Amino acid sequence: MRMRNLVASLGVAALALTVAACGSDEPDAGGGGGGNAASDACGDLHKFDTAAAADVAGSATYTKIKTRGNPVVGVKADQPNLGYKDADGKRCGFDIEVARMVAANLGFDPEKIEYKEIPSANRETALAGGEIDYYVGTYSITDKRKTQVGFAGPYFIAGQDLLVRKSDTSMDGGKTALKGKKVCSATGSTPIQRVKDEQLTEASNISEFKTYSECVSQLLDSKVDTVTTDDAILKGYAATAPDELRVVGKPFSTEKYGIGLPLADKALRDKVNTILETSATDGTWKAIYDETLGKSGSDSTPPPLEKY
Ligand code: GLU
Repeated sequence: MRMRNLVASLGVAALALTVAACGSDEPDAGGGGGGNAASDACGDLHKFDTAAAADVAGSATYTKIKTRGNPVVGVKADQPNLGYKDADGKRCGFDIEVARMVAANLGFDPEKIEYKEIPSANRETALAGGEIDYYVGTYSITDKRKTQVGFAGPYFIAGQDLLVRKSDTSMDGGKTALKGKKVCSATGSTPIQRVKDEQLTEASNISEFKTYSECVSQLLDSKVDTVTTDDAILKGYAATAPDELRVVGKPFSTEKYGIGLPLADKALRDKVNTILETSATDGTWKAIYDETLGKSGSDSTPPPLEKY
């Protein structure tokens, strides 16, 4: 039950960190997954040159970051290869690298980013309320969200898929096989909205949690039949428990990942799009992809930007 340990440690990562910070030097002293710790640990991060960047004229967010001295970035912490925090409190994944790349190219030290864990349902309020400067965490660009926040990107394209227990073949048909199945997803996400809008299963069969790792626990405990969200996220969970879980592999949506920004800050949106554009041509995008998400086996290239 390696995955159960991982999921448990994802859930208690903050607690484990507090304990560790309180002075225990013992390596993984009880709780948190024992021998599993090493395989869940974040490796080396990408080295970015912190450019002597020019001010982003007309960007209120940039001015705020400059005055403070470091960016405050919203992320996920329980999505392996994307936005992940290991047992030592180190963060890694493709989204984390994108967040660091943006900081470096705005002229700020990526090591000084202050991260805030914001679940799917709270992203718009966090950006609109000025709690974070930008958000990088499997955040799909949608017309509805565009009325509340700005988006640079997309920097990656995923698709909604299903995570199932390895031996269960009853959902191999993909989204049309969900009727009568207990489906779990995260509150405020596009996948759960799609399950509801398209009535892919009965309302009474839908469970919602703040995070996908809570859904994965439910799946391992046979309390639900499937976890649905982006394939990129699900592949990360499946890779941590290949004997217990698998991804069906029949994606049924297009999820364009954008960097969430305060709605009115067009100057910052344009600047971040330029940063993404440069990263696509100078090889940085590919380097950080290969070091993170690319490890799950899929080959990818940067998608065309949607400038607006
Ligand atoms: N990309 C989807 C969304 O933005 C699902 C992943 C997530 O919840 O972050 O809603």
